[in-house]
This record gives sequence, structure tokens and C-alpha cells, in this order.
Amino acid sequence: MKTVSVFGATGSIGQNTLDLIKRDPQAYDVVALTGGSNVTQLAADAIALNADVAVIDDPDCYAELQNLLSGTNVEAASGSAAIVEAAKRPCDWTMSAIVGAAGLAPGWAALEQGKTLALANKESLVTAGPILMDHANQHGATVLPVDSEHSAVFQALIGEDIAAVERIIITASGGAFRDWPLEDLPNASLAEASNHPNWDMGQRITIDSASMFNKAMELIETKEFFGVRPDQIETIIHPESLIHALVGFADGALMAHVGPHDMRHAIGFALNWPVRKDLPVQRLDLAAIGSLNFKAPEAARYPALQIARDVMDEGGLMGAAFTAAKEQALDSFIAGDIGFMDMAPVVAKTLDTMTSRDGLKNVKMTLDTVNEIDQLARVRAIEITKTLR
Ligand code: NAD
Ligand code: MG
Repeated sequence: MKTVSVFGATGSIGQNTLDLIKRDPQAYDVVALTGGSNVTQLAADAIALNADVAVIDDPDCYAELQNLLSGTNVEAASGSAAIVEAAKRPCDWTMSAIVGAAGLAPGWAALEQGKTLALANKESLVTAGPILMDHANQHGATVLPVDSEHSAVFQALIGEDIAAVERIIITASGGAFRDWPLEDLPNASLAEASNHPNWDMGQRITIDSASMFNKAMELIETKEFFGVRPDQIETIIHPESLIHALVGFADGALMAHVGPHDMRHAIGFALNWPVRKDLPVQRLDLAAIGSLNFKAPEAARYPALQIARDVMDEGGLMGAAFTAAKEQALDSFIAGDIGFMDMAPVVAKTLDTMTSRDGLKNVKMTLDTVNEIDQLARVRAIEITKTLR
């Protein structure tokens, strides 16, 4: 039996992970499940899977969680420190699927066990990639990518020598506004941005797909995970989202990973690795699909991509500043304080102040400095947002 914990169990990735676990209950022993504030879902899953502990982030939900779990064997806990404590409980396989920078600390703690961390939380690599991968190596832990593009690259690289890799191409759906006239984008509403053409995901990542801040993070994630140079990483719009990534080798061969848009493929691959097991995902009928399309992303529609290039060039703590500024800009868009096309300028201007005023290059990356830069970038992004109003 494999012991498993799922951080962010109530979210889109978390629920897909639990779906796979519930299909084969004899194979898994659930240690910890965590959620943000959806206490009903968390308690129901923790009871159904007989978890050792259920942790809810929001302290206001703690009494309700205790109430829902009373009379069961599941322990209740609450708060971000309790989430990190839960990540220290011995466990063979941990899913990191909390959204945002809050996902870093529990993943970091889980790595100290020297087991396997399935990493859906892309912010961990974007904010702290170099120290996170070092930390994993020091503890003999395995990190498996769960983001569909990175799982695809990982799979295309099995049995290959990374030194023979010329380039990595990650595909992008182009998001909700890929076919909109450019001049309409500033007026895009929250509801319109929250509607993904291909994937069913959490609201934040869906909006990040429309702006391509998601792809921007994935470019950085690719650099950090696979250790390639930024100029080796490309992105291309592929509206069908069936090819998730391609790896180009020194001999000109391109190995593509093709699969349905169902995150249970990448999650299941990480759950079963190093073996492949039957997964409940659709088998593609290529004749019915007929054709696959590709086009280069336009810089004016997706300014986030250039910001990612600048962040990769700068390196170090710029990733933490970028993630925080992006999260803050996204909060402001969701709150209706700024327009859809204001998010990229808020992020770019925030990073400009961080480069010019704070000399980020000279600050050593540690978990503490990552947090400090995160906080500072959020404050700066709020200041810049105010100047837009
Ligand atoms: P989601 O919003 O559906 O779920 C996020 C989970 O984190 C929920 O359980 C929520 O309660 C919890 N959470 C939120 N804030 C928290 C906090 N401060 N402390 C503790 N828990 C908190 O998000 P998702 O779509 O499942 O994405 C999760 C992560 O996986 C993100 O980093 C996302 O970028 C990445 N990812 C998602 C997909 C996808 O298809 N959904 C694909 C690739 C990568
Ligand atoms: Mg992805």
C-alpha cells in the first residue's frame, strides 16, 4: 500500500487526484488532506478515504471541521502552520496542489522525507526553483511534474539524454481571448476571462490562461525543472490542446506528447510512476479529430510572455517577485479594480521597481528571502495599481 497526502485536495487538481485514489482504494493509505475553506468537501473526502488528518487553512472553518469529523478517526487541524506540519507526516507520495505561493512551504517540508513530490503547484518552481530542486536532491527526494506540459516533456525525455535536447516547445491553447479583436481585450469581463475553451480548471489558472500568465509561469517552470537555457524554450498556440509539449533533439527529431485534455493523465502518470497503469481517460480518435493547428503567439495579445523572458534573464529572486506581482494583479482584476489588459503593465512596472530600487540580483535566495520579496512585490503592485485608477 502506498501512503499518500494531497495538499489542495478540495481544488480542481486535488479532486482529480482523489478521483484516481477512490477508484483503487485498496492501493492507497491516505495520510493528510488539506483544503482552503471548503470544509464540507474536505470532511467528506477525509471520511470517505479514512485520512489520518484533515487540515483546513481558514481558522474560521475549524469548529465546523471538528464538528463534521467528530466520532470519526480523522484528526482535524487548521491554519497554514498545521498544513506544513501535515506535510511532515511520513508519506510515500505527496501531491502539491495548493494554488499560489502558499503551496511552496508544504511542498518544501514534504521533500525532507526523501520520498516523491508530485508538483502541480507551479509557483513553487517559479518562485524558488533553484533552491527547491537542490533541497530535493539533498534529501534524495523525487520531484515529478504534474503540469500537463511538463509531464509531457518528462515523458518525452524518458530514456533520452538531456544533453541531446535542442529545444523544448510547450503548447498553449491561447485561452479565452485567442480569437478576440485586440481592441476589445481591455474591456474583457471577469466572467469572460474565467471561461476556458478547452480545460476545466480553477478560476485563477483559467484567467491566467487567457492572459497567458500561466504560460509565462510555465516557461520559467520548464527552465527550472529541466535545467535548459531560456533560449531553448519556446511556446506555440495549439488551439486543440492535444499536443501538450514537444522535445526537439540534436538530430532534428521532435517527440510530441499527445493526449486528451484531462489532468488525470498527468496526475495518474505521477501517481503510478515509474510504471504506467490503466487510467480512466478518453482514448483519442485521431481520424475524428482530423487536423491539429498551430500559430505563433502575438506579443501584443500576450505581453506576459515577454515578461517571463525578462524574468528568466534576470534570474534569482525575480521569479518570486513575478509570481507575487502577478497574483496581486490577478486579485485586483478579480476585484474589478483594474482591467484585463492592466495586469501585464502592473506586473512589468512592479518588476522594474524591484530591479532598479532593490538590486535583487545581489540577494541570496533562501525560503526567507523568497517570502520577503513576495511581500515586497505585493506592496509595490498595490501601489502601482492605485496609480492606474
Ligand atoms: P484550485 O483553485 O481549484 O484549488 C486550489 C486548492 O488550494 C484548493 O484546495 C484551495 O482550497 C487551496 N488553497 C487555496 N489557497 C490556499 C492557501 N492560502 N492555503 C492553503 N490552501 C489553499 O486550483 P487548481 O486549478 O487545482 O490548481 C492548483 C495548482 O495546480 C495551481 O498552482 C495551478 O497553477 C496548478 N495547475 C493546475 C492545473 C489544472 O488543470 N487545474 C493544471 C496545471 C497546473
Ligand atoms: Mg499547464
